[in-house]
Order: sequence, then C-alpha cells, then structure tokens
Amino acid sequence: MVRVRFAPSPTGHLHVGNAKTALFNWLFARRNGGFFVLRMEDTDVERSDAAYESSITEDLAWLGIAWDEGPLRQSERLDIYRSHALTLLEKGLAYRCFCGEEELAAARQRSVARGEPPRYDGKCRDLSAAEALRLAEEGRPFTLRFRSDGRPITFHDGIRGELSFPRGHVDDLIILRKDGTPTYNLAVVVDDMLMGITHVIRGGDHISNTPKQIALISALGGRPPEYAHHSLLIGPDRKPLSKRHGATRVKDFRAMGIVSEALVNFLSTMGRSIPAEMMDAGEIVRTFSLDSVSASDNIFDMEKLLWFNREYLKRMPLTELLERAGIDTSGAEKMSVVRENASTLTDLREYMEMFDRAEFRESALRYLMKMDAAGEIAKAVRPRLAAGNGLTFDELTSALAAPPGLKKRDLFMILRAFITGRSDGPPLREVFPLVPVEIVTGRIDAYLKHRHEG
Ligand code: GLU
Repeated sequence: MVRVRFAPSPTGHLHVGNAKTALFNWLFARRNGGFFVLRMEDTDVERSDAAYESSITEDLAWLGIAWDEGPLRQSERLDIYRSHALTLLEKGLAYRCFCGEEELAAARQRSVARGEPPRYDGKCRDLSAAEALRLAEEGRPFTLRFRSDGRPITFHDGIRGELSFPRGHVDDLIILRKDGTPTYNLAVVVDDMLMGITHVIRGGDHISNTPKQIALISALGGRPPEYAHHSLLIGPDRKPLSKRHGATRVKDFRAMGIVSEALVNFLSTMGRSIPAEMMDAGEIVRTFSLDSVSASDNIFDMEKLLWFNREYLKRMPLTELLERAGIDTSGAEKMSVVRENASTLTDLREYMEMFDRAEFRESALRYLMKMDAAGEIAKAVRPRLAAGNGLTFDELTSALAAPPGLKKRDLFMILRAFITGRSDGPPLREVFPLVPVEIVTGRIDAYLKHRHEG
C-alpha cells in the first residue's frame, strides 16, 4: 500500500514549488491507489503560524489536492519525538552533549581550518554514561546527539538513480534541542516511520538530509522509505524562483486570475518527459509516474502558464466563466465577445470595464495624445453617436473621412481607443454594439478635456 505525505512548514503561504511537491505526491497516491497524508511541520514555534496553516490548506483545497488524513501537527507530537530520542540514548545510539555555543563555534572553526565542512568535534561523545548522567543531574543543559557511525551511504533515488554520500557526511547531528524539542531530521524520521510512509517525494533541496534520515530511521529500527527528489523551480535567470521573479505563491496566481485547473495542468507537466499539453484531471493522474519526472533544470515559464490558462478559459462554459470572474449573468453577451482575448480572469474583468466605465487604459490615452488626428476624429464621431440610435459600427465609420495622411490602421486604433478605452481587444464590429453610447461619448469628452488641459 502506497502512503505518501506532504509536509509543509506553516511559516509562510504556499509557494508554487511546494505546490508542485504536494501535487506530485497526490498524483502518485492517486495513480497507485494509495494514501496521502498532510503533515504540518510546525515545531519552529517562532516562525510557525496557524494562519499560514489555514492558508496552505485553503490553497491545497483550491487546487483540488485532497488529503486522506490530517492535517497532523508535529507540535502536538513532541512527546513522541522525545521518547524516540530517549530510546536512542538508552541504546547508546545517542549521547548527551553539554558543549556551549562558544565551544561549538570553536570546534566548527577548527574543522573549517582543516579544510573540512564545519562540524562538531565529538567532544562529549566519549563521556562515560555515569559522567554524563551526573552532569545532567547537576542541571547542566544538554542536547541529544545522534551517535553516527559515519559510514558512507548510498541510496536509490526514484528520480535521480543511485546517490552516494561519503564517509562522514552523516555526522553527530543534534536530534533533541536543549529545551527538549526535536530537530527537523528527528521529527521527520519518526513521523515517516510511524505514519508508514512508503515514498518520500520532495524537492531537491532535501537531498543532503536524506542520508541522515536513512541513518536515523535505521537506528530506530525502521525501514527507510523510498526517496525521490524532483528539481526545484528556477527563474529564467536560473536562480531559485523567488519574489523578484514575480508571482511565486499559489495565492498570487489565484489573485492574478489563473484558474486552478490551469495551474494544476501546468505544474503536472513541469520537469516531466511528457509534452506540456492540455490534459483533464483523469489523464493527469493516469500519465503520472516517477519515471517520467526528470532531474534536469526546471525553469518556470510564465508564458506557458498563461497559455494553459487561456486554453481553460476558452473551453469553460460561459455561465461558469461568469461565475468564476464574479460577473452576473447580465454580462453574458459582453463576456462572450471579450473572452477570446483574455489570458486571466483579471483580464476578463478588466475587459468588462469597457462597457461601464468611461475611462481609458493608460496606453490607449497615451496613444491618443500623440495622434493629432484623434481630435478631428473625435469631433466627427461624437455627433453621429449622439444622434444615431442603434447605429452599427459600419454606419458609424461609413463616409468618415480619415484626415489626409492617416493610415487606416491608425484610424481604427483611434476608434478602438474611444469605443473601448483600450488599445487591444476583440473586433470592433462585435464590441461596438455592446458599449452603451453614453460610455463612448463620455470617453470622447474625457479625452477632449484632457487634450484641452494637457
Ligand atoms: N517541512 C519540510 C519543508 O517544508 C519538508 C520536509 C520533508 O518533505 O521531508 O521543506
């Protein structure tokens, strides 16, 4: 029976890279008739926040990633980690370390000076049990360290194949802090073991933790799960995807008007050896396998996401589209004209503004201000609009003499700006009958006023 878990730390909103991890685990569970556990790794009391937990669960639900169990919280399981750490102590597989901060810093410096990674020198490793107990009873604070045998570790990664770590990579890491709380590696290992996790699918940033977790889980008498590390999302500059690349959190994409189906479809194709194409939920599940996940660089392609989103918006039934965009059904006809041009729900809402706001988008107004002919055209068009009831676009433009030297294309751009307030959009012949006359005349007046003042 496959059992996987998604284990976010509720120290921030759900990052799209973590959403990919959640999705891959969920797909793996669905594909294999398995079980998906949601676990909150909230032992860092300072940084964890219940508000982030609800934000994460809300985003997962929005994505349609449903968990079979949880959310379990590590903060509610502290006794369990403690008792496992004490078991290791009793078996001699862990020891008390009384070193203070300064001593530890000095030891780290010494190992760096020897050209080794900064690490603990094992000073307390050989204290006799009686001595260690005496110091503990005196009230000296201590951490519990794993007594690592330091042997090299090799494991099979479900995505990357065989990965090997040299002797000493697994050091005497701290498993229980001075205050009795577990460190990340201990809590993860105990949970993965007790929760019967069979496959750990997570981002490549955890690769170097894996040998430590394998050593710990073995010391605890458990069997390590299978590990698979997918690659992290990077920006076009090949740096880890972060705020300076734009939207990175699921809620940002949601606010932009990306629909969940598009984000799921897009993420499910990321770093995979399958074409980045439209798939329905069933196909996404059916085609998922770790074999198809590649370890190569995974550049986040915003254009591709927008392409998926446009495809989903195009295919969505009109009533549903209205509902998702938060527009009531009276807007149906207008929506059906503008929907082809929108990449996001936000775009859609902005397009819809052309019908009830006598305003310009900045680019359209800038364009009008630089076109001298616009004033003349405004004056020619305005009275026709005011006079004609049910005027068609062709009637409006017939015999509209373009000022000499004005390209036809520019004439239409000017008309587009007056009619829609924008420099892009659906065919004018289709939108024109749907924009109320007073909105167009209002826009023309606003332009004339602006021109006069400007
Ligand atoms: N809590 C860890 C994180 O958010 C994940 C731990 C794991 O997947 O093993 O990065």
